[in-house]
Amino acid sequence: MEPVIFEERKTQIHRKGAEPFSISCNKSSLAGAVSQRACVFCGSRVVLYPIADALHLVHGPIGCAVYTWDIRGALSSGPELHRLSFSTDLREKDVIFGGEKKLYQALVELIDRHQPNAAFVYSTCIVGIIGDDLKAVCKKVEAEKGIPVIPVQSEGFKGNKREGYLAACEAMFQLVGTGDTSTISPLSVNILGDFNLAGEIWIIQDYLKRMGVDVVANITGDGRVADVRRAHGAALNLVQCSGATMDLAKMMQEKYGIPFIRVSYFGIEDMSDALYDVAKFFQDKDPEIMARTQELVREELTALYPKLQELRKDLEGKKAAIYVGGAFKAFSLIKSFRHLGMNVVMVGSQTGTEEDYQELAEITDEGTIIVDDTNPLELSAFIKEKDVDIFVGGVKERPIAFKLGVGFCDHNHERKEALEGFLGMYNFAKEVHATVTSPVWNFTPRRRKSPIAVNHAQEACLS
Ligand code: SF4
Repeated sequence: MEPVIFEERKTQIHRKGAEPFSISCNKSSLAGAVSQRACVFCGSRVVLYPIADALHLVHGPIGCAVYTWDIRGALSSGPELHRLSFSTDLREKDVIFGGEKKLYQALVELIDRHQPNAAFVYSTCIVGIIGDDLKAVCKKVEAEKGIPVIPVQSEGFKGNKREGYLAACEAMFQLVGTGDTSTISPLSVNILGDFNLAGEIWIIQDYLKRMGVDVVANITGDGRVADVRRAHGAALNLVQCSGATMDLAKMMQEKYGIPFIRVSYFGIEDMSDALYDVAKFFQDKDPEIMARTQELVREELTALYPKLQELRKDLEGKKAAIYVGGAFKAFSLIKSFRHLGMNVVMVGSQTGTEEDYQELAEITDEGTIIVDDTNPLELSAFIKEKDVDIFVGGVKERPIAFKLGVGFCDHNHERKEALEGFLGMYNFAKEVHATVTSPVWNFTPRRRKSPIAVNHAQEACLS
């Protein structure tokens, strides 16, 4: 079947080998194309959401708050205030007469009731249109209540999701530099861009602990306001999910001289590289750290490899499609699928840059479709054209896979399985295996080829 592609989107799709590399990206979504992307407000909300002892107040109509209520499976080891989504519930009258009074009252009431360590106040589309002075209200409440009350300038219409990431980083940067750093170890890092989905940040913290490295601030999974305030005392920033938190790392480098490295905790190579990069950075201060890291990686891989080989037997030669938020995750996923003997035939992201796509073009096989900011129509067409066995994406991609009778792995906000680290690689492989080999897909209209095939599938389901 010929993919249905709007004329204006053709430059955002590249087929490796069919033409020299070229892709346009990092631009506004085509109106009417039903992009899989979220708005600016959502971008900032998802980054700040896991700060668990902060109040998160959405200044806007209730629909914006509902859209992002408890949006990530970000776990906290302590307070869980982040899981409540508060809204000023702006109505028509507020749009006409302004919502500042309502915002002030909501902030005062919520701070008194929940005693948060800071408050983030998100601006939405309508607030940008009516021109409420968010900064002035926040400043007033901050002076009265004695906690940081930080405006997040995330009007939904002002750009794409990346603008939201920047607004979140600017908001957090107001906290950085306001805490005491006197007790921080010289071997210390901040973890940026990990949201502790299904407890993943705890896996990474455990590796770092075994290497002898302290974590000052989790930004933002299992995050705390006090930790963000002293984050400028860390020796190094580890930046995962670079789209979301790279701006903060750059701001901290410029103001406090803290270097950063880009890392990924997904897959065997990237997880090992991340640990080795940290060890290299600190080996002048601690000459033993590299040996400890090598031992850690050896131990983990010795346990992991035989289990992967077992699962690989059923997965060899199967085809995968990937569509994720940031392209950096896609690099790790391609390598992970190779460990399982599988081929990636389509890969795309919501917010990749030209360099990201260039790298994807270099590491993928001939014929792979590389796509920027796609939509359900294109995704369905590509999945059918390539006849994939598994689609890796998030909540918005899941129904596409299920309707087409294709296995699915949630690698986004809502996942319940930890997929980071060596343990995460095993969880990923198990999940891929379970969905790819499930007989249930034979019952979907597209897969149902003959009554005999269905009967076999039914037997397999019952056995
Ligand atoms: S901020 Fe705007 S685009 Fe985002 S959810 Fe609210 S109304 Fe929709």
